[in-house]
Amino acid sequence: MTAERRLTKKMRAAYLKSPLRCPWCRSGDIDSVSELKADSGEARQSARCSKCGRCWTEFYKLARIQEEI
Ligand SMILES: [Zn+2]
Repeated sequence: MTAERRLTKKMRAAYLKSPLRCPWCRSGDIDSVSELKADSGEARQSARCSKCGRCWTEFYKLARIQEEI
């Protein structure tokens, strides 16, 4: 396990590029621990790594919509 405790700018950027791996330990064993909460154009959801136990919040912005046919 890495000694870094704080989420660095570099770790953030890496996670945004590939959000399927924990920013700290790179484990793919990530769980969403809350419902997606949305208000005023932004949504957020808490996630937790099952391997190292660290938690973080993910923020989402609606990018586009498409009609379903
Ligand atoms: Zn982890």
